[in-house]
Amino acid sequence: MPATLRLDKKVAIITGGASGIGLESALVFAGDGAHVVVADINIEAANRAVETIQSQVPDAPKAIAVKCDVSKEADIEAAVKAAVDTFGRLDVMFNNAGIMHPEDDNALNTSERIWDLTMNNVTRFDALARSNVKGVWWGCKYAIDAMRKNPGGSKGSIINTASFVAILGAATPQIAYTASKGAVLAMTRELAMVHAREGIRINALCPGPLKTELLMKFLDTPEKKERRMIHIPMGRFGEAVEQARAAAFLASDDSSFITGTDFKVDGGISSCYVTPE
Ligand code: NAD
Repeated sequence: MPATLRLDKKVAIITGGASGIGLESALVFAGDGAHVVVADINIEAANRAVETIQSQVPDAPKAIAVKCDVSKEADIEAAVKAAVDTFGRLDVMFNNAGIMHPEDDNALNTSERIWDLTMNNVTRFDALARSNVKGVWWGCKYAIDAMRKNPGGSKGSIINTASFVAILGAATPQIAYTASKGAVLAMTRELAMVHAREGIRINALCPGPLKTELLMKFLDTPEKKERRMIHIPMGRFGEAVEQARAAAFLASDDSSFITGTDFKVDGGISSCYVTPE
């Protein structure tokens, strides 16, 4: 008997799907049988992601790229509409796009501008506009509306990317980022409770520090990297694909009794007092 693909024919939007965790998730989701909508502010990179799916995933279901700046409500509404217009339904919303601003610091040194940019929605560096909290809210809002209208009844899985810093204190401060990810976690819990009885599960993914462009740009010296590494029980930074596999589990019916959780994929950091020698 052929093995069943765990996301067979499900329709999934991945914000920030053109790079890092989002790109790896697009590949894993497609490999698991999903139609993927790569929603990214960088449409060229999103188009390349779709080409990568087609070239690297044998028998990948149709995937599409959509230009979407998650700091703009209309873009998120349009991305959800594109998914439903193209594939007839929405099963998975992975609100993954997020920002870590290089000028984010402690309570004394962080400017109100950086706080507002991170929390409210928009920051501009590397010519990109990015959003941590509002974009996740809007992603949930339009996804829930679409999932309620799914043929066959209300059903879906929403995954919001928070971070291990939403759970653990760090003496390497990024106060606006930490507050924004705490907000994502709290918002996810409440949404999960509100929608629990209508077949829509909502979970937060809490990655540990990863070897992605986002963090490696921020940790731009060996000393900064080592300062973190000492606290990771597994002795290495995580890989984006390890988050993607966890996101695929949360997206699939394999996690059918999991909602409202802070799903930690962090190499053991959040359970650690003393690291192994
Ligand atoms: P990344 O920088 O590698 O990729 C981010 C992607 O998002 C890019 O394709 C970019 O074009 C896109 N993007 C940026 N702004 C956007 C916007 N406004 N609208 C739509 N797309 C936008 O990032 P990553 O490391 O894969 O991080 C993904 C998520 O994981 C973020 O929410 C981040 O905060 C979180 N996270 C990352 C780490 C880490 O160590 N990298 C740890 C914990 C949590």
